Amino acid sequence: MSKPIGRRRIFLSSPHMSGKESLYISEAFATNMIAPLGPNVDAFERQVADYAGVADAAAVSSGTAAIHLSLRLLDVREGDRVFCSSLTFVASANPILYQGAEPVFIDSEPETWNMSPIALERALEDARRSNWLPKAVIVVHLFGQSAKMEELLELCDAYGVPLIEDAAESLGSDYKGKASGSLGRFGVYSFNGNKIITTSGGGMLVSNDAEALKHARFLATQARDPAPHYQHSRMGYNYRMSNVLAGIGRAQMEVLEDRVSARRAVFERYRAELGRFPGFEFMPELEGTRSNRWLTALTLGEEAGVSPSSLIYALAEEDIEARPVWKPLHLQPLFYGASYYPHGEESVSERLFRTGLCLPSGSNMTPEDQERVVDCVTRCLPAERMTKGA
Ligand SMILES: *Cc1c(COP(=O)(O)O)cnc(C)c1O
Repeated sequence: MSKPIGRRRIFLSSPHMSGKESLYISEAFATNMIAPLGPNVDAFERQVADYAGVADAAAVSSGTAAIHLSLRLLDVREGDRVFCSSLTFVASANPILYQGAEPVFIDSEPETWNMSPIALERALEDARRSNWLPKAVIVVHLFGQSAKMEELLELCDAYGVPLIEDAAESLGSDYKGKASGSLGRFGVYSFNGNKIITTSGGGMLVSNDAEALKHARFLATQARDPAPHYQHSRMGYNYRMSNVLAGIGRAQMEVLEDRVSARRAVFERYRAELGRFPGFEFMPELEGTRSNRWLTALTLGEEAGVSPSSLIYALAEEDIEARPVWKPLHLQPLFYGASYYPHGEESVSERLFRTGLCLPSGSNMTPEDQERVVDCVTRCLPAERMTKGA
């Protein structure tokens, strides 16, 4: 079957440059500040720290590296446990394994799709009883929606366990007037190519604990002791961000608000067009929070008359990239045998995985692009729904 001419591929979430990136990159070239670190890194760190309203930020090579460093800073080691949201990308939990520690997965609740305070409380209570409290709790803000931070922080404080925010997907989102990622002991942002803004690859560790971030920078540059010769007494990493890539980040930060508005508009357009069909339920937004709507996510109930997988297949046939919701980590072969605490009778993350779908959500999508997606989805619906909706 030949493809219609002139139809370009629609990606789930592709990089969206502002045009000013080359300016900062040229600066790096003009001054020969190519090698790691330099003025772009310093400026980019300041920009993100100011935006998040925290004391300091450390630019690193990826969001995963930032999560790993946060675990090192909290002295997570072999034999320790770390609690983590189950409904997330594998990068949230891989660093737990890097440290030889054991992940315990916590279910979602239906109002944010993020960590259930009810399940977390049960897990913490069990841990206290067996005298084996976790060294940290990693809370993910899925698709840009902040988790119920007040409740989660209160629990973590009560049990004396530090909270790490995996805000890789939620840069630009707010939680009750504060930046998502700024409320925990540490926050993590990602600038991977598919995120709301990008440096092609990179991450940021943020915190109000400036001393801890100083130590993070030390660990991220091979843990060199202050000596003229190369002396090392601790194991470090090569995790810092390059001055060239930080130049991209500087220009991207300047348009972050525009990117959030654009993604939110994409979400609203989908909801207006598809929300009228029975069984189509869009990801909620918790009162008092503002999601960056990094990805438009929805669930399809029985009444929809079509499954997420058949929609993904039909969209792929038209060169449109759509994806299921993350497969919960407690169902991943990698974490076989790990403990899991469901929200209640029902495992919410498993239902979201079974019924969930992410539509193309790039801030650079045109209205015509979105119309193509909507048309394709609509054509997949059983005939009677189409006429009812029309
Ligand atoms: C993208 C992502 C990461 C990892 O970020 P990288 O910069 O790709 O290492 C971690 N957690 C979540 C939830 C993500 O979506």
